[in-house]
Amino acid sequence: MKLFAIFGDPVSHSRSPLMHNNVFKKLNFRACYTRVHLQDGTKLREVFLSLGLSGANITVPHKEAAFLACDEVRGFAKKIGVVNTIINEDGRLIGYNTDADGFMYAIESFKTIKNVLIIGAGGTAKALSARFLEDGIKVDILNRSASKFDYFESMECYTWDTFKLKEYDLVVNTTSAGLKDEELPAPKKLIDAILDNTSFAADAIYGKTTPFLGLAKSKNITCKDGADMLLGQGILANELFTAKELNLADIKKYMSETFLF
Ligand code: NDP
Repeated sequence: MKLFAIFGDPVSHSRSPLMHNNVFKKLNFRACYTRVHLQDGTKLREVFLSLGLSGANITVPHKEAAFLACDEVRGFAKKIGVVNTIINEDGRLIGYNTDADGFMYAIESFKTIKNVLIIGAGGTAKALSARFLEDGIKVDILNRSASKFDYFESMECYTWDTFKLKEYDLVVNTTSAGLKDEELPAPKKLIDAILDNTSFAADAIYGKTTPFLGLAKSKNITCKDGADMLLGQGILANELFTAKELNLADIKKYMSETFLF
């Protein structure tokens, strides 16, 4: 029996155990997926190995710590320095990132996107901005502090005080504002102006209508919460956990089923 887990702080809200366990159960894959509340990201490797995990997902705020915990990082995760999936390959921890492709899956129904404002400058913002740039989409960043802007040097970066309003096709909230609280990701006056000048809005947070999405909906903007992103990244992570033993369409079918529960 293989054991998988999600690490995060907070982690009790995570739907990942439900999603992965339903796939394992329905497809008779002998594995179980649990959650680990981890406060100190530097302990990730130690805890992963002591639990004898075959793989894990990593959520807020440990995705950059997860990059450092790995022996080897592959694909897109290597480019951005952010890991959300770890596979145990004979005692070596191999890191991947499935968030960005999961998000592209989520916004497939939006019309062609040419310019995006990402609110936030953490792991998710890094992953999404790099993925958008790969597709030739222009990206601006808005964050409450400038401390993480070095990574985004090829993009226009603004703090709340320096922001210059423009029209955007899509605005994405990648901050944790609204996850455990009822905060907007920037002062309301700013978010109001931004939403009045965008066609689409998305939030990485799922399972609730955040104040950001609530405001966007009240302005009749077409919105997506983080559920489809979660599904997309989960399908790709499950494919890694099961080493392609399972059919991708079956993984998608049984993981999607859990969003109806
Ligand atoms: P990080 O901790 O790496 O980054 C968080 C960012 O949010 C930072 O830029 C931080 O700003 C900003 N921030 C935090 N609190 C506030 C606040 N109250 N007001 C304004 N800005 C704030 O987090 P991640 O990028 O890993 O995750 C961000 C969110 O995305 C989480 O809510 C997570 O649950 C969600 N997520 C959802 C996924 C899905 O599948 N749906 C996948 C991945 C993430 P500063 O730099 O100033 O500290």
